[in-house]
Amino acid sequence: MLHRLIAAIGAALIVGCAALPASPTPAHAPLPDATTVTVRRTCATTLHADVQLSDEARAVIDHAGAAWRGPTQGRLNVGVVYDLDFSSPINLQAHEAAKDSLLIPIGSDSEIAARLDAEFAPGRPLAVTIKTDDDRTIVYLIMDRIDEVHALDVVTHEFGHVCGLPDLPMTGAVMSGVSIKGAPPPDGFQPEDMALLRAAHYLD
Ligand SMILES: [Zn+2]
Repeated sequence: MLHRLIAAIGAALIVGCAALPASPTPAHAPLPDATTVTVRRTCATTLHADVQLSDEARAVIDHAGAAWRGPTQGRLNVGVVYDLDFSSPINLQAHEAAKDSLLIPIGSDSEIAARLDAEFAPGRPLAVTIKTDDDRTIVYLIMDRIDEVHALDVVTHEFGHVCGLPDLPMTGAVMSGVSIKGAPPPDGFQPEDMALLRAAHYLD
């Protein structure tokens, strides 16, 4: 029995030795191919908008939110609820306490518009998106400067800012920062818009 065991061990050793590769085994076995990790970003923001906004304005705003979902496969998602009531201090305090992001329509003769004009001089902005110190987003729409033809593009552009996209220097794209009065609205998302989305990791 012992002999047979020794013989078996011997055979195993011999087999083992015979199986050794001719070249020395590298000290570190090569790692398997690394798994490719793709960082994809999503933006889901809810803006609380003025209850006074008309049905027409709401339709444009909702359409602007939906416009980003297709090209980003739902990764850029700005939703709007119409529950901001400026006539109610309690409502305003509740939004303030909840640190809500807001969508606020203003007139060009308002104090806020004057401040935005000074900030964005020499241009007269149609709409402005700001980030507050406590990381809330506030979108101001200067209603009497936005005409019907451009309304959807203006709001769509601001929603791009809500999700952190910067302005493009050229005209004709959704994220073009330059707005030329009377210019035709962009014909949907342009390659430059898609490049911005890729750079911001919303798209591969
Ligand atoms: Zn802009």
